[in-house]
Order: sequence, then C-alpha cells, then structure tokens
Amino acid sequence: MSEIVVNLYKQANPITGTVVENKRLTSERHGLDQDVRHIVIRYKDAYPYIPGQSAGIIPPGIDPRTNKPYILRLYSIASTRSGDDGKGDSVSLCVVRHFFDNPKTGEKHVPGAASNYLCDLKPGDQVKMMGPAGKHFVLPDDFKARDIIFAATGTGIAPYRGMLKEMFDASFSGRVWLYFGIPYKDAILYDDEFKALANQHKNLFYVTAVSREDMNPIPDVVPTRSNKMYVQVRMYQDKEILKDAFTKRNALLYLCGLKGMEEGIFPVLDMIGKEMKLEKPLSQVLKEEKRLLVEVY
Ligand SMILES: Cc1cc2nc3c(=O)[nH]c(=O)nc-3n(C[C@H](O)[C@H](O)[C@H](O)COP(=O)(O)OP(=O)(O)OC[C@H]3O[C@@H](n4cnc5c(N)ncnc54)[C@H](O)[C@@H]3O)c2cc1C
Repeated sequence: MSEIVVNLYKQANPITGTVVENKRLTSERHGLDQDVRHIVIRYKDAYPYIPGQSAGIIPPGIDPRTNKPYILRLYSIASTRSGDDGKGDSVSLCVVRHFFDNPKTGEKHVPGAASNYLCDLKPGDQVKMMGPAGKHFVLPDDFKARDIIFAATGTGIAPYRGMLKEMFDASFSGRVWLYFGIPYKDAILYDDEFKALANQHKNLFYVTAVSREDMNPIPDVVPTRSNKMYVQVRMYQDKEILKDAFTKRNALLYLCGLKGMEEGIFPVLDMIGKEMKLEKPLSQVLKEEKRLLVEVY
C-alpha cells in the first residue's frame, strides 16, 4: 500500500479551511431531514488525503452532555485527492443534517451539532479540520484490473465519488458496480455525475434502489421492511453477474453508509454464495480474505 498520511492535524493543532461552496444536493420539496449538502473547503497548508479517508470536523461551542468543547466528528471525503477543481487545495464533503429526539429532556428533533453546523456554513466561513483520518477504506494499490462492488446508503456514497473518478483517470480496466440506496429519486446524490461516468465507461454499472418509491419485486426471496426496494434486492437481481465477479478471487466489496446495512446485505451475499456452492458463507469468505471493506456509522 502506498503511503497514506493519517492524523496530520489533531484537535490541538487543527488546520483552518475556508468554505468555497455549500450547495444542496436534494430537492427542496423535502424538509430539512433530507437536506444533504456538498461542501467544498479550501485550505492554504497541505492536507494530503486520498478518497476513502475522512476529515475530522469540530463544531464550535460547548457540548451540553459534557460541559466541555465539542469533540470531532468524521466526514468521508467526497472528492479526488486533487479536489473538485483539480488544484489540490480543497476537500469536498457530503453532509446530511442529523436530528434526534432527546429522551432525557423530552425534546424532539434536536439538531445534531456538527452536521447542522456544516450544513449552515456559508462561502467565506472558516472551519477547523482534523485528519485526514483512516486508511482501511481506500482502494488497494492493485485495483486497476479487479472487479469492485461499491454499495452505499445515503451519504455513504461520498467516498465512491472520489474513488470512481480516480479509478477511471488511472485507466481502470476491471468492472465496477455502484449500488446506491436512497429514499427518493429526487434525493439521489450526484446522480448526474454517476450517470455521466456510466455513459462514458461501459465497465461501470450504476444501480439505484429508491426505497420509498420503488417496491421490492421479490419479497419472498429477499424480504425487506414493508417490501421496500433496498440495495440488497438490486444485488440479488444481479446475482448471475455478481457470482462471476465473486468467483474471480480478486473481487472486492465495499459497504458505506448507515449502520445496519450489512445486516441486510450479508444474508443476500450468503444466498449468492450458496448458489456458487461455496463451503462457507460468502460474507465470511470475503471477510477472511480481506475483500470486504466496511465503513458504517
Ligand atoms: C467514518 C465516518 C464517516 C462518516 N461520514 C459521514 C459523511 O460522509 N456524511 C455525513 O453526513 N455523516 C458522516 N458520518 C457521521 C458523522 O460523523 C456524525 O456522526 C453525524 O453527522 C452526526 O453528528 P452531529 O454532530 O450532527 O450529531 P450529534 O450532535 O453528535 O448527535 C449524534 C447523536 O448523539 C446523541 N446526542 C447528541 N447530543 C445529545 C444530547 N445533548 N443529549 C443526548 N443525546 C445526545 C443522539 O443520540 C444523537 O443522535 C460519518 C461517521 C463516521 C464514523
């Protein structure tokens, strides 16, 4: 693995960046719960990252739970290492506003500190960043001829945006699937970009699962809550081609997004593995062979 820089900036010595763009990625028809933003932050000092790493953000203010300053939250980097404009001095994030109900105080729909802070930032605002963090969710050095299956829910799409661009810039010659689960069609993040990339590269298979609009046509085979369309249904529908990819010993599976998405996907993988007549569950095989990479939160 080529050298990956981690934690160059920590809570005690953060880098200060300036917001240059903050645009909503989802239709305004949806409320704040579906407000997902593409935020570009430019910095003057070096911030050497690669796709698959995360940026640490500290919201300003005091955490009422600890009476101490807030600690950092991680956000997956959504740009290539050279940034959206190719100049190498910016990082892009894809952030959804988080809200929660507080059982202690009875307050409802309390805004999460960091996500709402980020989503409210305006161009020109300064923001403190740490990181880059993590090196387990990146592409391997020998990715070029592999088959790669990316599965995302919601903002879990972020790392794949940079990875896919870098893969094709490096003349990727394997096959890559992008399974993207999202509630509404007009909330599909970066849809135009992925469609354009798939039009350009016949070895990219871009598949969306729109849970609140499309129905699961095979609930008896792949049960889902209220027969909703989820990523694992799409994966099962593609099982023949995926079997071929998994049979090649080098196919990698990346999962990123909502905690719990693995629980829906693993049984489907195991069904596919059974049809492949594997001795062990496919999810276990992929784990053991370090071909399963997971970033869920
Ligand atoms: C590796 C990694 C990558 C990530 N990438 C992304 C990404 O690309 N995009 C993205 O949008 N998110 C991402 N996240 C999630 C992100 O880090 C934050 O967890 C998320 O934005 C919520 O943070 P927040 O500060 O808004 O909410 P917080 O304020 O931290 O609230 C989170 C939870 O803490 C509890 N809580 C908070 N305050 C209180 C209180 N006063 N009393 C009681 N309970 C409380 C609640 O249960 C609440 O649901 C990622 C996480 C990880 C670990």
